[in-house]
Amino acid sequence: MTRSRYRELHFNVGELRRSGVVKLKENDMYSMWVKTACCNLNSKQLRKIADIAERYGRGVVHFVVRGSPKIPCIDKSYLENIRQELQEVGMKILDRGIDNLQSYFGNYCTENNVDPQSLLRRIEGKIEGLDLNNLNIKISAAGCPNSCGIAQLNDIGFYGVVEPEVDIPKCIGCELCVPVCKRNAIEMEDDIAVIDKEKCVYCGQCIAMCPFDAIVEKRRGFAVFVGGRDGEDTRLGEIITEFLSEEEALRVAEGCLRILKEKKVNAATIIDEVGVEEFREMLVLSTR
Ligand code: SF4
Ligand code: SF4
Repeated sequence: MTRSRYRELHFNVGELRRSGVVKLKENDMYSMWVKTACCNLNSKQLRKIADIAERYGRGVVHFVVRGSPKIPCIDKSYLENIRQELQEVGMKILDRGIDNLQSYFGNYCTENNVDPQSLLRRIEGKIEGLDLNNLNIKISAAGCPNSCGIAQLNDIGFYGVVEPEVDIPKCIGCELCVPVCKRNAIEMEDDIAVIDKEKCVYCGQCIAMCPFDAIVEKRRGFAVFVGGRDGEDTRLGEIITEFLSEEEALRVAEGCLRILKEKKVNAATIIDEVGVEEFREMLVLSTR
């Protein structure tokens, strides 16, 4: 193969990859990455994906780690047909913006402290407004610190938190809350429940459990992590702020995205370089 032909092929594969189409080992076979709305697909869209996999691929759909459907083993000559068929049901190849936003199913979950899907839908709108085009940027949100959206492994990650407080006169010392806390943050002192704030992760389960309403909600909102990264150079994101309203969390997300767009790298790279405190200062400037 001549050097120029090699360069041409290499360039095309790179271009395709950035447009949600990944070359496979097999000759002229590709895998297509489908854009989802915060991991949601309606039944019509699911049928369409299955139909495309059957007619143009090998009848297989692969759901990768971030919940993104990938349709493997597609001949490149079908890509345009598929693009049009996806459009018919309001879908597209993941070819612009950022990686699929990752979320757990939101308000159906009994442990939810906030609505992660509502926040992510609003962030999706901001991404379009900012005209961001970097599929390496990852955002996720979950409703509670169980963090099923793995907030800590994303450029920007959110989960919902609730701060509990014991209403001392109401506590009858029944100890029912003690085993509920998975973090062993509740102890009894003189027959009154006491919460160790160092151990508490703000899941809110003790509030829901106390039959005497003796543990009350002090604050509620989103915790925000930045700088997480998965893959071969895994790095956990760092918490930069907590107990934000949805509106405040949206502003923080928009500020972070502006920084990532300007710097053209992911959040982990910036934080490794400047540290989390300076990133916070950059964020203050970019949210003004
Ligand atoms: S369950 Fe409620 S009443 Fe019982 S010890 Fe815990 S806080 Fe007090
Ligand atoms: S909020 Fe969760 S972690 Fe904190 S004390 Fe209650 S049960 Fe334990």
